[in-house]
Amino acid sequence: MTRVGIIGGGQLARMMALAGWNMGLQFSFLASEGESTRCVEGLGNIVVLSPDHTPEQVYTAMGEPDVITVERERVDLDLLRGLTGLCAVHPNPDAVEACGDRFKEKQLLDSVQLPSAPYRIAASAQQVADAARTLGLPIVVKNPTEGYDGKQQWHIYTDEQLRAFTEENPPGQWLVESRIAFDREVSMVAVRSANGDTAIYPPTENRHHNGILLSSIAPAANMSASLLGNCEDYIRTLLGAMNYVGVAAMECFVTAQGLLINELAPRVHNSGHWTMLGETTSQFENHLRAILGMTLGSTQVIRCHGMLNILGEYDREDVLHQLSADAALHDYNKTPAPLRKRGHINVAGENRESVENELTRLQQILYPGGDP
Ligand code: ATP
Ligand code: MG
Ligand code: MG
Repeated sequence: MTRVGIIGGGQLARMMALAGWNMGLQFSFLASEGESTRCVEGLGNIVVLSPDHTPEQVYTAMGEPDVITVERERVDLDLLRGLTGLCAVHPNPDAVEACGDRFKEKQLLDSVQLPSAPYRIAASAQQVADAARTLGLPIVVKNPTEGYDGKQQWHIYTDEQLRAFTEENPPGQWLVESRIAFDREVSMVAVRSANGDTAIYPPTENRHHNGILLSSIAPAANMSASLLGNCEDYIRTLLGAMNYVGVAAMECFVTAQGLLINELAPRVHNSGHWTMLGETTSQFENHLRAILGMTLGSTQVIRCHGMLNILGEYDREDVLHQLSADAALHDYNKTPAPLRKRGHINVAGENRESVENELTRLQQILYPGGDP
């Protein structure tokens, strides 16, 4: 029996395990103390990590898996490096580190000469102000290692807001970026195997609500051949540079001047959830295939696909009642909380218009007040 160990016990671990059960795989999960593991209950052995666990103890407690992978960006890198001596670890710890730290991410992008928003690294509030002067307002100030769903970042448009930020004088180091007036946001999800084979899903267009991904549609519309070529070249280059094995995502801004890379995720990604509907190999299955050295599955689609995140409260029965045939509801078994990602709905259609209409219809059902 092949066993996969996953660091993390959230919805991404859940969907990986659900895909893997179909493939005859077994799973174990490593959760941090206090982390909810409701998403993976019943899907395998759950191990709770205490700070003094050695890699050997973790490896044994997880049932001596054949491979260990991650479902989140913040992981104990020393532990991950320690585990490499005991079994395969994919993606490799250096790649996880590079994607989990915005300074290292920028360094990586610069080293392979790929474009991203102009930036400065600031070690104090004064340096944030200096960076704002050099880059010009508006700027986005980001915590380098904390933050997801737009948390731990500040969009600063005016001198007054800049003054307020510097007077607050939050401790720490900051990534200061020019705020990009993008046309839209697209992401690329791709999978790379140990022998370098790479398969790339079509670009996905993403819409956010207050920094949280709300919906995706794929393939993204109006992608010129050169833009699409850039998207594919950039992610291929990055995966190669990191010697990456598994699924990764690259979030981008499409601007009038071309493509800018926003950030990388060393894992399966919310903008790839639409791949679960069955027309293509899901990102979860492809991730497992890659980390286990299996042949990669197709990443191509003919139809149009959409995904709507379920944030906060919702009435499952009501949604199920109103789902069309070309749709699927995924519920992560989480305790409800405002804006918490509880699940998602995938839809597919013959063309973009029908998928757009379906996403709008479902959005009105889920969020009758307009916003999540
Ligand atoms: P995620 O949940 O995707 O991991 P995150 O909290 O790590 O998000 P980012 O992806 O860097 O943060 O930013 C969240 C959103 O904020 C982006 O999707 C984009 O809409 C906006 N944003 C971030 N950086 C910039 C920028 N430099 N210019 C304009 N908008 C930006
Ligand atoms: Mg992020
Ligand atoms: Mg992001």
